[in-house]
Amino acid sequence: MRFDTRLIHAQQPADPATGAVVPPIHLATTFRQSAPNRTKGFVYGRSGNPTRAILEATLADLESGRRGLAFSSGLGALTTLLESVPGGRRIVAIDDLYGGTRRLFEHHRAQFGLSVDYRDLSDLAEARAALATPAHLVYVESPTNPLLKLVDLRALAGLAHRAGARLVVDNTFATPALQRPLEHGADIVLHSMTKYLGGHSDVVGGALVLGRDDDAERLAWLQNAVGAVPSPFDCFLVLRGLHTLGVRMRAHQESAAAVLEVVGRSRKVRAVHYPGRARASDRALVRRQMAGRGGIVSVEVAGGGRAARRFLARLRVFTLAESLGAVESLVDHPASMTHASVPRAVRQAHGVTDGLVRLSCGIEDPADLAEDVAHALRAV
Ligand SMILES: *Cc1c(COP(=O)(O)O)cnc(C)c1O
Repeated sequence: MRFDTRLIHAQQPADPATGAVVPPIHLATTFRQSAPNRTKGFVYGRSGNPTRAILEATLADLESGRRGLAFSSGLGALTTLLESVPGGRRIVAIDDLYGGTRRLFEHHRAQFGLSVDYRDLSDLAEARAALATPAHLVYVESPTNPLLKLVDLRALAGLAHRAGARLVVDNTFATPALQRPLEHGADIVLHSMTKYLGGHSDVVGGALVLGRDDDAERLAWLQNAVGAVPSPFDCFLVLRGLHTLGVRMRAHQESAAAVLEVVGRSRKVRAVHYPGRARASDRALVRRQMAGRGGIVSVEVAGGGRAARRFLARLRVFTLAESLGAVESLVDHPASMTHASVPRAVRQAHGVTDGLVRLSCGIEDPADLAEDVAHALRAV
């Protein structure tokens, strides 16, 4: 079956007990055993839940993985993944990352002696140099948050494996509708389901999808041992959101295209960040590993932090808020909001300036979004 059909039907047969076409929300926290340890596959709500099992099987299917695991948040998924890294080991991470991801890496560095090397892994020469030394994990976002840099997944997977590392890809921005990293050699996919997978700003969740059986076994054990699991209702909300992921991603892209028209020709904008926009090599990557470029556009407003704040104050359709990937358009000022936990000098050094704003283009009428941005730019 093709992807959009799998979004509706993969791993979601009608309920065998009743024929219900929507998966039931199973709230039971414990399951009867006919004799000690004789079960129908479910024991206790943290260890496993039938609604969660449907979501996890769906995630594995959509990401072309061996196994999906759902968590209480994207950072809950990352915490559990980091529990699998022995103390003192080395992680090589891309320099442009969600602020909370970097904050958690830094915590593990201070607390447990993890070594974390932040490098521009969108540059293969730099990746090659960084991975001349052995590592345990290579950790990237592609596109990155908030600068929308792209990583050559196939090439980086080769370099990671030669360095003895697994390649982990945070696929939150692209979603499996536009990019399936496991098909390009990555080992583990991470999601904040809070964003596009849920899609409606009404559920916090995270996921890991494993491409290898040994990782699947280890991480499933840790999912239960650590216990950062989502509620059955949250799992249902993500399953409901997934049904429309395909149509939503197409609409998000149409909105992004309308916004790009405006920011691309404005003298009030110093730089526009969008996958495949700046470099010819990125356009080749889009063709090779992506089915589309997504709905996030970051722009650097001319005039720095003050100009950015004037721009934000004038927007009417875009809502100033953290998060992204929802049906409603959201705008973020990374320097003071999502990436405020990253030291200023570190931020500035790799391009997250005070003038940068991140636009998550929703599925409203694209013409209204374009007008909103054009109007707000006039105030700059
Ligand atoms: C939001 C986000 C996360 C963290 O996920 P939560 O669900 O908020 O814990 C991780 N990675 C990226 C790219 C994100 O945008």
